[in-house]
Amino acid sequence: MANVTLTNITKSFGAISIIPNLNLTIADREFVVLVGPSGCGKTTALRMIAGLEASSGGKIEIGGRNVTQERPGLRNCAMVFQNYALYPHMTVAANIGYGMKTRGHTAEAVQAATLRAAGVVGLENLLNRRPKELSGGQRQRVAIARALVREPDVFLFDEPLSNLDAKLRVEMRAEIKKLHRRLQTTMIYVTHDQIEAMTLADRVVVMNGGRIEQAADPMTLYERPVNQFVAAFIGAPSMNFCTASIERQGDNAQLRLQDGAILHPDPADLPALLQQTSPSITVGIRPEHLHASPTGPIKMLVEAVETLGSHKLLLGTLTGKAFCAQVTPDYVIAADGIAHLSPQPGKLHMFDSSAGQAIRAT
Ligand code: ATP
Repeated sequence: MANVTLTNITKSFGAISIIPNLNLTIADREFVVLVGPSGCGKTTALRMIAGLEASSGGKIEIGGRNVTQERPGLRNCAMVFQNYALYPHMTVAANIGYGMKTRGHTAEAVQAATLRAAGVVGLENLLNRRPKELSGGQRQRVAIARALVREPDVFLFDEPLSNLDAKLRVEMRAEIKKLHRRLQTTMIYVTHDQIEAMTLADRVVVMNGGRIEQAADPMTLYERPVNQFVAAFIGAPSMNFCTASIERQGDNAQLRLQDGAILHPDPADLPALLQQTSPSITVGIRPEHLHASPTGPIKMLVEAVETLGSHKLLLGTLTGKAFCAQVTPDYVIAADGIAHLSPQPGKLHMFDSSAGQAIRAT
């Protein structure tokens, strides 16, 4: 069992508090991705789990054991870094087996474990090369194999793919996912790339300013973000936001955008909307939940069109704010034209204008 529990974890560097109070339980065999903007404390949280950074307060447990004061070598975590951290003068095989060798295992045991780990990541034919003779993806495989030979209880990944080009990143992403399925080991993975987070994770933890905004499976984050921060962070292109006033009609209500367009909230969300005391809210619409329609209430000024084969992206403004819509590839509009768009029923998001909390049926 290698569940990981962080209880009231705090971290300050000098007088600056980076993590005010972090509580997170990661189940045995779970793949959890910590995601969030640069500087939100993801790497610091990961390094505290590994024991590379001391926490300022709180408790860290791995497999039910309190490891808060334990040194890194005793925690049985293996960490894979962005910059691979390979020894340049050693062969691939020596890099993979180095840790075991220094821990005093026999040459036979080191060799057997090295071959096994190299086989898992497809490096069998490159064992005699040096890191400089490898591609970025192959180097990252060596780093993963080196972690594998330790047979850790927990794998920790710190932005392992960010040095790779886009195509390799997609390939290695799939490899890491397969590795998790095969090994069934707890994995905690840090990235600022929300696509990586969504594709890899059983559960994504969205962090902001050292706090957890939401921790949920990818589809829940996408469909039911708890607040505007999560809504903006998850999804590409990002969700559009506009200010709307609430027009109440008894038990019903409609939303009026600043240009007069009328939108209808999901009936299930009406009771939550009617409880709002503020006259206006923020409406969120994902670009992929809009479609072109001559009677569409949304009239967007199109400034650029990106043709992407499977669809087109319309980029422009609505009520003076940046706005994006994803339409079918056959839709034709000139730059500086007005696109008439309808939101898909039931796909409107609403947030209160003060704290940005989602307004919806619970
Ligand atoms: P990124 O995506 O840019 O790697 P991150 O979310 O992983 O960001 P951290 O590396 O955890 O962020 O850093 C969180 C904050 O702590 C940042 O403001 C950073 O400048 C600060 N910080 C990190 N390490 C130290 C340190 N050793 N001394 C002082 N401040 C630090």
